[in-house]
Amino acid sequence: MFNHEKIFTAALQLHDPPFVERVEFEDGTGELHIYINFKKGSRFSCLECGTADLKVHDTTEKVLRHLNLFQYKASIHFRTPRTICPEHWVRMIQVPWAASGSGFMLIFEAFVLHLAQSMPIM
Ligand SMILES: [Zn+2]
Repeated sequence: MFNHEKIFTAALQLHDPPFVERVEFEDGTGELHIYINFKKGSRFSCLECGTADLKVHDTTEKVLRHLNLFQYKASIHFRTPRTICPEHWVRMIQVPWAASGSGFMLIFEAFVLHLAQSMPIM
């Protein structure tokens, strides 16, 4: 039997170390918030050079707009780790679901570009 965190982990195609820790639905605003975390002691690669198995220096929460789920606005919250690389020092990791520095999921950006191609310019 799946709980909803496992369902969202599978639907977002997350593979260890990231996983969906909790899912919250705000009834008043009709917004869905999906919180992604990673296990303590997880190691990541350097964004710049790809050096693997680096310790986490600290984390910062990133909030990314995802596609709607049904009619509800959906956002991803990720406690994003920053690693310490011997060559590049402290760098945020690269996540597979968003471009570096973007506030949107890649799939959301693709959907907006698709809409832009088929919408008239005023
Ligand atoms: Zn590096």
